[in-house]
Amino acid sequence: MNIRILPPEIVNQIAAGEVIERPASVIKELVENSMDAGCQSIDVFVRNGGISYICIKDDGEGMSREDLELCIQRHATSKLSGKNLLDIHSFGFRGEALPSICSIARVKFLTKQENDTVGWTLKVDGGQVTVPSPEQCDKGTTISITDLFYTTPARLKFLKSVTTESSYSMQAVKNLALANPEIAFSFTNNTKKNFTYPKADDLSKRITDVLGKDFFQNGGMFEHETDGMHLKGWLGLPTCKNNGQTYCFVNGRPVKDRFLIMAIKTAYQDVIIPGEQPPFVLYLTLDPQEVDINVHPAKTEVRFRQQSKIRGFVINSIIDKLSKLSVKTSSDVAEKFFHFAHIKEPGRPAWEGYKNEEKVLNAQEIWEHSKNDNILNFERKNEKNDAFAFQNENVVRILEYENKEDDMLSSIPVQQPECLDLGISKAQLFLSYIISQNNDCIFIIDQHAVHERIVYEKIEKNIYIDENGLIISNLPIQKLLLPECLQIKNSELIKEYLPHIERIGFKIEIEQDTLKILEVPQILCESNAFGILMAFIDELTNNEIGDSFLKKIHKIFADYACHNSIRANHELSFEEMDALLRKIEQTERIGQCNHGRPSYVKLPKQRLDQLFGR
Ligand code: ADP
Ligand code: MG
Repeated sequence: MNIRILPPEIVNQIAAGEVIERPASVIKELVENSMDAGCQSIDVFVRNGGISYICIKDDGEGMSREDLELCIQRHATSKLSGKNLLDIHSFGFRGEALPSICSIARVKFLTKQENDTVGWTLKVDGGQVTVPSPEQCDKGTTISITDLFYTTPARLKFLKSVTTESSYSMQAVKNLALANPEIAFSFTNNTKKNFTYPKADDLSKRITDVLGKDFFQNGGMFEHETDGMHLKGWLGLPTCKNNGQTYCFVNGRPVKDRFLIMAIKTAYQDVIIPGEQPPFVLYLTLDPQEVDINVHPAKTEVRFRQQSKIRGFVINSIIDKLSKLSVKTSSDVAEKFFHFAHIKEPGRPAWEGYKNEEKVLNAQEIWEHSKNDNILNFERKNEKNDAFAFQNENVVRILEYENKEDDMLSSIPVQQPECLDLGISKAQLFLSYIISQNNDCIFIIDQHAVHERIVYEKIEKNIYIDENGLIISNLPIQKLLLPECLQIKNSELIKEYLPHIERIGFKIEIEQDTLKILEVPQILCESNAFGILMAFIDELTNNEIGDSFLKKIHKIFADYACHNSIRANHELSFEEMDALLRKIEQTERIGQCNHGRPSYVKLPKQRLDQLFGR
């Protein structure tokens, strides 16, 4: 055996193999460096999606001549000062990206620090490094790359088409732009400027710029903090199609973390068509000590120290937000549904100009705003009346209030919940839809969908895991008139699970190979009792009793109970319809059925008037 140390070019090429997969990875590394250099704006120019040419220009702090020579050395970094690898506040810290890129491409640097009279340029070409030469330029750094992978041509074969690489490259910049709204970004492919995002003062502005206004309106912003964990961002409505728009950031870093994505899916599970994933943009911020970002060379995966705590926090924050979003779903759908092209836009509310501003108002003005029809949600922030929030189409305005003694405002309740008032039933159409009316709106209600939701909420409330970790059901039980009897093979297994089976509301008897079902949860009494029982036992054998097990059980029960719901094509009396409406009003997350379809739509009288030109 002849052991030898690998030459540095090879070491760099191996490192490049890990960090640099395609043009988009080069872009990511260079943009992150620009951000670490404290820039205000980053311009990305590529040709053929980056395969032929990449150039990143920033206005950051730049480098001195000495730093410029150093930065292409392996493990040269200005970012990891201490010894603690978990205490990381910058994007880079491995000191690997530049030497790796230089080992597989031709690179040109041009950089200048603010107080230097002249900038410096340096070229790296196949391991040959030129001596830095002075060149006039603005403060900041521009790095241009040609002939990517020319020293490792095998890599080129793994690249996809120009179109695909272009979209990867663009996506990489979008990702970084979402993580850094305070930085302006532009992206130009060949000579086409694909996007420019100006510096944004708030996150919703940047998200709107990246996702597009129409898309953005199909969801809502939220923010939640507990115990040092902070989650904020934008959640698409369950009815909103994904279009590949899912973005996760941990401590400002774009990640593709399976663990987080699974948590998000779980949170949406109850309100979505199975297998679908709505769009989201989520920012999780934790103490850097709580998360290891150094588990993946490209740093796109992370490892959390307290996984289950984070998971619970993410799921609960999202579920909480979704329950608030759902009321709006239906009206949004209705707005689109009924909004014909020839209808004039309604007049803008008087306070439209205040967008995101803080403004001092007097009582009369606040009162006027609160009455405005366009206000979807109006909240008094605290008992002292010092700030009010108006929420309209996801824009929340906090308005300061000047006279704290004023009586007029006491009539506005604090944190007024959005109450649903479906009025009284007027008709049933096609034996499937209920038409109802309250003082200012009409509603079209999908009777099957709402019934499904009611059933689901009931199941979710009544089947739970108690403090001893046992699955419990509080659903009423019903005796079957004729016990269901079946031949079974796995009687031993079923006997083993008997206590669970009883706690969930089944009474069974096993004699040799015959299973007799005597009692079932009432909600399932018209369903296939044996099928549910077997599905339940299946889950018991395959899972530990815990959150995700519970969700599955809810789903199984709900799916079976759905067959039992008031189906479409079922005639209802006015009394039955009104009773259903009252139940709907008291049911959480009624905006969608369990499968994510809207369950009712709303048409305000105002819209009807517009429709007829009144
Ligand atoms: P890392 O980012 O892990 O430190 P890199 O190889 O990406 O390693 O960069 C090496 C060093 O080069 C950085 O630590 C930084 O000091 C310097 N550098 C790279 N890009 C820039 C830039 N755009 N502006 C200023 N300095 C930069
Ligand atoms: Mg770096």
